[in-house]
Amino acid sequence: MTDTNEPLYFLADGMLGRLARWLRLLGYDTAYENDADDLELARRARAEGRILLTRDRSLAARRGLRTLLIESEQVREQVRQVVETLGPPPSPALSRCSLCNVPLSPATPQQVADRVPPYVLQTQKRFGICPTCGRIYWAGTHLQHMKRYLGESLPLQSSENPEDG
Ligand SMILES: [Zn+2]
Repeated sequence: MTDTNEPLYFLADGMLGRLARWLRLLGYDTAYENDADDLELARRARAEGRILLTRDRSLAARRGLRTLLIESEQVREQVRQVVETLGPPPSPALSRCSLCNVPLSPATPQQVADRVPPYVLQTQKRFGICPTCGRIYWAGTHLQHMKRYLGESLPLQSSENPEDG
């Protein structure tokens, strides 16, 4: 848990679909099982080296599994608990699809021109597109929305505006 170089892979159980989408937006690889039973969840988490995120106390207490018992019902608090307990996202925000959990492919403004609002096209230079579902992501308004929703205190890395240093 203290080794920050350890890759973070999550598996969210059926009650945590919204949390899974937020974690993906933040840059965590987060698989999600909508209707798997405890046994299947445990097997997949173990097989893929994922930390199982669950609100189920008995599942969280299972031996031989890395788990995190999610305490709050509020997704904002759930995100905060994950970040504070397990560490900041290994990848920049908006680097994977919130629905498919696959890394986005870079796209130029020309490639997305007919599919995003004109003002977005004028103000954003870099876009990401999901190779699976085709959704398009860009930093500006998406990041603002995430910050507003989650609170400024959460670590949000952006590949668009590196502000460190
Ligand atoms: Zn997608």
